[in-house]
Amino acid sequence: MISADEKNCTGCRACEASCPKGCISIKENNNGFLLPEVDTEKCISCNICSKICPVEHTERNVPLKVYAAYSKAAALKSTSGGVFSVLAKQVLDNNGIVYGTAFSEHLEAETIRIDSIKELVRLQGSKYVQGNTRDTYKQVSADLKTGLRVLYSGTPCQIAGLKKYLRSTDTSQLITAEIICHGVTSPQMFKDYIDWYEKHNKCRIKDYSFRAKSKENGRDFCFLVTDTKGNARFSSEFKDPYNKAYMSSEWFREVCYSCPFAAEQRVGDITLGDFWNADALPKGFGKNRRVSVVIINSEYGDALFNDVKSLLIFTPSSWEAAKAGNSNLFRPTSRSVKKQNYAEHRNNPHFFDELSGLKGSIPKYAFNQLPMDLRRSIKKTGAALKHIVKG
Ligand SMILES: Cc1cc2nc3c(=O)[nH]c(=O)nc-3n(C[C@H](O)[C@H](O)[C@H](O)COP(=O)(O)OP(=O)(O)OC[C@H]3O[C@@H](n4cnc5c(N)ncnc54)[C@H](O)[C@@H]3O)c2cc1C
Repeated sequence: MISADEKNCTGCRACEASCPKGCISIKENNNGFLLPEVDTEKCISCNICSKICPVEHTERNVPLKVYAAYSKAAALKSTSGGVFSVLAKQVLDNNGIVYGTAFSEHLEAETIRIDSIKELVRLQGSKYVQGNTRDTYKQVSADLKTGLRVLYSGTPCQIAGLKKYLRSTDTSQLITAEIICHGVTSPQMFKDYIDWYEKHNKCRIKDYSFRAKSKENGRDFCFLVTDTKGNARFSSEFKDPYNKAYMSSEWFREVCYSCPFAAEQRVGDITLGDFWNADALPKGFGKNRRVSVVIINSEYGDALFNDVKSLLIFTPSSWEAAKAGNSNLFRPTSRSVKKQNYAEHRNNPHFFDELSGLKGSIPKYAFNQLPMDLRRSIKKTGAALKHIVKG
């Protein structure tokens, strides 16, 4: 039987979907994370749930190729270079199905299935909170059985769960795109923050974007809230309590700090992330724009990327270059001694006000949100100053 513990469960829901007796249900723990609960009365001890658990063992791919890439057309609405939406469009244009994380009407991050390009915008943009895969593993299985081509995107643990769930299904029409993941916060914490934000700003939120791009100039280290009256509010991530909490890395699901998928061997056919290592790019490449790192891990991934190459501006790069700018490609986020449990704060009505007032140094992750050219200049100035001080 699976051990339902935040320390070793990612909440992917593969066990629930696989249980032949339907005796696993998903419950929220005190921190607001989803965990499986086994009805021991109904359980027949077949152990399928333990065998299916992706944390235990999932096949991995060795990265084959690495690119830095962006799409002029898609990057504005996307988080990085917009490569995900170009891949998704290619699949949708060829009568395929795409799965990815969208916000529901109530701003809950959840995996949805789309079959038309008009819905693609809902998947664009990172939602920095744990998403709910719902019953999408079963939907993918049904799609594959009817011969449809499927692109499934999500965090590496969600992709690993899907792959384990589909262990005996023909997956030759499945392509998986995993994002590089820094860690996930509790959906309950995000929900409470939205309530706090609405009260604090006397508005109803219709849409929320974590890394909004106001102009096509790469100046995007702000978030954007659009209310039901159509008013748009841009704000700095460094002032907002939820965004500060995310960037502090202190509020993640416990398993994120020992994530088995933050490793050099990858779970997805394609890995997507931010190309943070500006110094490894040719001069002027992606100037003032977000650039994606694209890691090709299988022949399926390679074939899909080849299909969209003409729609992207790209340059070959290397695993070493990608890795140097992105630690979550080879190790989990470090568990800070200040690691927090939301359970201890969720009943405090002043929690988000208190969090807003906290001062702290800008961690590396926040620094990385700055436009590439600015980061390059800051680094150069820093190095020059160090040299002067030493000399
Ligand atoms: C929680 C989280 C942490 C991340 N940490 C890092 C990091 O440390 N380093 C790094 O380089 N990149 C990180 N990323 C990935 C990065 O933010 C971009 O999602 C990625 O570069 C793809 O950008 P894009 O422009 O190609 O896609 P976009 O058009 O922005 O598409 C977004 C993609 O992300 C998926 N997605 C969005 N929200 C979620 C979610 N909550 N759970 C699962 N999938 C989601 C969508 O399904 C879609 O595939 C993180 C993303 C998330 C959601």
